[in-house]
Amino acid sequence: MKFDTIAAISTALGEGAIAIVRISGEEAVEKANRIFKGKDLTKVSTHTIHYGHIIEPDSGRVIEEVMVSVLRGPRTFTREDIVEINCHGGLVSVNKVLQLILEQGVRLAEPGEFTKRAFLNGRIDLSQAEAVMDLIRAKTDRAMNVALNQMEGRLSKLIGRLRQELLETLAHVEVNIDYPEYDDVEEMTHQVLIEKATYVRDEIRELLEVSKQGKILREGIATAIIGRPNVGKSSLLNSLVQEKKAIVTDIAGTTRDVIEEYVNVRGVPLRLIDTAGIRETADIVEQIGVERSKEMMDKADLVLLVLNYNEPVTEEDKRLFEAVQGKDYIVIINKMDLPRIIDLNHVKELAGDSKIITTSLIEEKGLKDLEQAIADLFFEGSLEAGDLTYVSNARHIGLLTQAERTISEAVNAIEAGMPIDMVQIDLTRTWEILGEITGDTVHESLIDQLFSQFCLGK
Ligand code: GDP
Ligand code: ZN
Repeated sequence: MKFDTIAAISTALGEGAIAIVRISGEEAVEKANRIFKGKDLTKVSTHTIHYGHIIEPDSGRVIEEVMVSVLRGPRTFTREDIVEINCHGGLVSVNKVLQLILEQGVRLAEPGEFTKRAFLNGRIDLSQAEAVMDLIRAKTDRAMNVALNQMEGRLSKLIGRLRQELLETLAHVEVNIDYPEYDDVEEMTHQVLIEKATYVRDEIRELLEVSKQGKILREGIATAIIGRPNVGKSSLLNSLVQEKKAIVTDIAGTTRDVIEEYVNVRGVPLRLIDTAGIRETADIVEQIGVERSKEMMDKADLVLLVLNYNEPVTEEDKRLFEAVQGKDYIVIINKMDLPRIIDLNHVKELAGDSKIITTSLIEEKGLKDLEQAIADLFFEGSLEAGDLTYVSNARHIGLLTQAERTISEAVNAIEAGMPIDMVQIDLTRTWEILGEITGDTVHESLIDQLFSQFCLGK
């Protein structure tokens, strides 16, 4: 397929990351060459990178020092010619470079348009395309890994395997329908059906279970910092934000309306509730009191409850403990640089199973422990690190939910000894729904598939 040439700023995650202007399409190399001073890009070999400068073609003024990659299709992400201009200046200079390339008659890409092209040009399947979209939106490295796994086709592979199981099951059903006179065939069919259908159902359930975690990763963990006035809430907030830097995600499709602030704590994306308000007017926090804290807590996935090392546990502290019951929370005893007055055993009693971390935010002590505690809470508990296939896409979750329903109906029907053709309908439907996730073979008929794979009906 032939499309016009498009350009956009590619993701720049965090500070110090290189910002890239990416151009894709038939005219990518020629247009880039017009604003590049260095080697003649139209003559260089494919998949090579070149040092040079971006210049204003009219004035010859140097805009930016760059490295430019020239990637000729079809061995590229979009299968088209791609030029990537790596700028090391900040956003301002990247924008200027983008502006220059657009002035050469290149169109600004829509959000996700590179990915759309990769899909339309047959480079990736639908679930991979969607994973790339998630990748673009991923807020932290950890969330990015989830998206990457999926992009590499993990979900596609798993779905493919489940569909294969369903096909084999359906093949048995066919045999049963074709040769009803053999009793042992029926016997075996029932056995195989129960085993395979249950297996597929359980796998789908597990995927759905894990998908809840995927959702948390993308949206960030809503985190509330609560405590009496003057215990160090603002200081904690500032330490987290400064040390970890707020992550500004810049969507690769160039739209910049989705800039959000997140704090990345060892791969856990924390979304600090009400951050802007708290930071702008530190005084308000002083006045917040228990009522307001409770409101914030309702919205929070994680609560950081701050106490003062240098003061006894107060009635207000106790009420805060009562308010956080049932939530994931971490207790922070701050100001450990001052003499200890707080009764640590009392705090332990109040905290129950929750972690207690002692800090001195002024002396920057204890922050590492706090980070570890946050990471443990989310990655060693319910989330197993690394090796799971995450489903983080609303469409996939919707389809998996449907598939779970139809396969459960199939299992129930088999167990109830329902006629085999009833079971067949549910199994077939499940197979189709799963196929919609990967976007392939939706149009091919099931019978064609059965025949091509099992040569039934010889
Ligand atoms: P908030 O009212 O809970 O937000 O508390 P703040 O963060 O505004 O801090 C209140 C006061 O305690 C400020 O003067 C801070 O400088 C001070 N403070 C914060 N953390 C520490 C600490 O670890 N040690 C000591 N000695 N003072 C601290
Ligand atoms: Zn404060």
